[in-house]
Amino acid sequence: MKIPFNRPFITGREAETFEKALKSGKHCGNGPYSKQCEELLKKEFGLGRVFLTPSATAALEMSTVLAGIEPGDEVILPSYTFSSTANAYCLRGAKPVFVDIEMDTFVMDISKIEEKITRKTKAIVPINYGGVSPDLDALLKIADEQKLVVIEDAAQGIDAKYKGRFVGSMTPMSVFSFHETKNISCGEGGALIVNDQSLERLGEFAQEKGTDRSLVIAGLKSKYSWVSLGSSYLLSDFLSAVLLPQLEARNEICIQRKRVFDAYEAVFAPLRARGVIRTQKIPETVESNYHGYYLLFSEGSERDRFIAKMGAEGIACYIGYLALHTSEMGRRFGGSAGTLPVTEQVEKTIVRLPIYAGLSEAEINYICERMEKYFNHV
Ligand SMILES: *Cc1c(COP(=O)(O)O)cnc(C)c1O
Repeated sequence: MKIPFNRPFITGREAETFEKALKSGKHCGNGPYSKQCEELLKKEFGLGRVFLTPSATAALEMSTVLAGIEPGDEVILPSYTFSSTANAYCLRGAKPVFVDIEMDTFVMDISKIEEKITRKTKAIVPINYGGVSPDLDALLKIADEQKLVVIEDAAQGIDAKYKGRFVGSMTPMSVFSFHETKNISCGEGGALIVNDQSLERLGEFAQEKGTDRSLVIAGLKSKYSWVSLGSSYLLSDFLSAVLLPQLEARNEICIQRKRVFDAYEAVFAPLRARGVIRTQKIPETVESNYHGYYLLFSEGSERDRFIAKMGAEGIACYIGYLALHTSEMGRRFGGSAGTLPVTEQVEKTIVRLPIYAGLSEAEINYICERMEKYFNHV
């Protein structure tokens, strides 16, 4: 059997909505399908203003305009994340300041933030990892006291909850990704969520190349002109047409992913109890969206052996992030090995298992059987 690491899920209704978008004559951003997606996201997930963007990366870049990031500002974020999280702020001349993660959840260790705050700190950017947000209440308290803006990189976090509320709704800004590797996908896509009402207008300008075109559309002006920093942060209505049925199928997608998650739990809970393996801790405050299933080995060599053995069985397992602070770019910003011990340990020893809505019962059984066998031998 050959099991890829990811297979994008298709609801079967995308071709129909795509064709409707083609025939509608409205192909650019902020068209009818984009509006429907934005409304659904707002209503179903309790979000503020939703801006659909070409990617989560673009949404993060757009957030830097709204947050007023300037050269010399410092932005606090975990090193254990994707390059986009840091890049967005570095593109504006800000300096990334990396914080370690927790050994059990793999998300930013909130207790390590305060020691990194300086007079130059402007923003804190936590990451949602596999549906798990860090302790957002503690984080927002620090941000409030220090007058810092919080932008959650919730690229993986759609449909997950923290303390009963949907991820994306709690921080002044947050971003989602609709990349094909995420729970809900239109190939490439994303969203910037703006929960701070005072930033909405600037969001409209930034999304439309820094112009006040939105005021013309609203009938408030007759001509639009350049009024702010911005870029083309719009999602074509073709892609929004693909996104809509995916968003509508979110419960079905979640149930299907949970099936895989539960099957893995059945295999790994006993091994975890015996101390053979560790898995990501889902805190009691979190309701997962089953974006990922992670194993943590004690040694990097054991991890690599497991990936190779599973690969030989046709099962594609994958490593996690490579730490940013020790990367070529991270070192240019002052990062160095030995400074974030948990991140450095996790990057060497973590494995991501295949988990997606399209996995069949037979495939899940095959994976579980092979993995169980592997651990019974070691
Ligand atoms: C996937 C991901 C991104 C990038 O998303 P795109 O939509 O591909 O730009 C950024 N941050 C995190 C944490 C991600 O998981």
